[in-house]
Amino acid sequence: MRKLLITGGAGFIGVNFVYYCLERYPDCRIVVLDALTYAGNRASLDLALDSNRVEFVQGDIIDQALVTELLQKHDLDTIVHFAAESHVDRSITGPDAFIDTNVVGTHSLLKAAREVWLTQKQHFDNHRFHHISTDEVFGSLDADAPAFTESNQYEPNSPYSASKAASDHLVRAYHHTYGLNTTTSNCSNNYGPYHFPEKLIPLCITNILHGKSLPIYGDGKNIRDWLYVKDHCVGIGLILEQGVVGETYNVGGENEWDNLSLVNVLCETMDSIFSRRPELKEQFSASPMANGQSSKELITFVTDRAGHDRRYAIDAKKIRDELGYKPSVDFEQGLVKTVDWYLENQDWWQPLLPK
Ligand code: NAD
Repeated sequence: MRKLLITGGAGFIGVNFVYYCLERYPDCRIVVLDALTYAGNRASLDLALDSNRVEFVQGDIIDQALVTELLQKHDLDTIVHFAAESHVDRSITGPDAFIDTNVVGTHSLLKAAREVWLTQKQHFDNHRFHHISTDEVFGSLDADAPAFTESNQYEPNSPYSASKAASDHLVRAYHHTYGLNTTTSNCSNNYGPYHFPEKLIPLCITNILHGKSLPIYGDGKNIRDWLYVKDHCVGIGLILEQGVVGETYNVGGENEWDNLSLVNVLCETMDSIFSRRPELKEQFSASPMANGQSSKELITFVTDRAGHDRRYAIDAKKIRDELGYKPSVDFEQGLVKTVDWYLENQDWWQPLLPK
């Protein structure tokens, strides 16, 4: 039975991982540590907390004494580390929080794990520190370049990706220097339930429902590799179960879309859901579909993000060949599931919209 500390478990991917663990590991116990920044939402964990297998602690990963106490008190053997400042645009306007949480916070967690698992417990072997990272650490790919493998050079270009790169290096160093049992996964862009509505897909869904513009950076040709969030969780589970300590694994959907094409497909998905469910036109009277138009009418081009990476793409061969990983949700199916979730869970996202 695993006893997990899930940091950032009130954020988008973290909360999906909490639900995935409850389903996949019937005996697991979970402590969620989350500072509840603007991106964290305790209400997302309501169903998990009902299970009595999950405890929520509001706190900062930078607080080494708190993390040490949690590891000791709950006899935890696994850390799955999601907590981060994660929005590239915010890292451009305010990089300090990214250094504090992503670099210094990750280092505090590593120090606590080392103290409890290697020093106090005198080389307690059955522990794991799994670090969640991003494909953005590898920098930008040319249109015809092969996708990122685990051995690509790190070339981070934004304060966000630089802070994640630094945290990846610290995790690696704690394995090589102190023998901490670490694994790292570098994943491509996720989408799905509980995604904060400032990110591209939920922003477009909620803006379409309210008849607001769909902002596309630059020429809309920046390419990202999209993965349904539950498929990311499956990958993390496989790494915890079978991954080799000290290794890193790329996780991705091999599903590249440029932003403009993605928003067009999302608009078509929304239009077709509205034509199947006419009651939605009454409920969302400001949406273009309520007025006989397509949601594509809302697409607007805006000034490009500073230093915007052109293309990311993940080569997931290693996790596929070594751990049998295979994403199960195709993109069109995943978009429908995501739109349906936002339609069914307005109480979750309406309060998060900018006033
Ligand atoms: P998110 O912004 O939705 O959630 C982050 C969570 O961390 C929030 O609940 C927040 O309250 C919490 N947090 C922030 N600072 C904290 C601190 N100092 N102490 C404790 N908790 C803190 O992020 P996400 O999209 O769920 O991403 C989770 C992880 O996955 C991040 O490490 C991110 O770099 C990585 N990642 C994200 C994507 C993606 O597409 N979203 C892709 C690849 C990797």
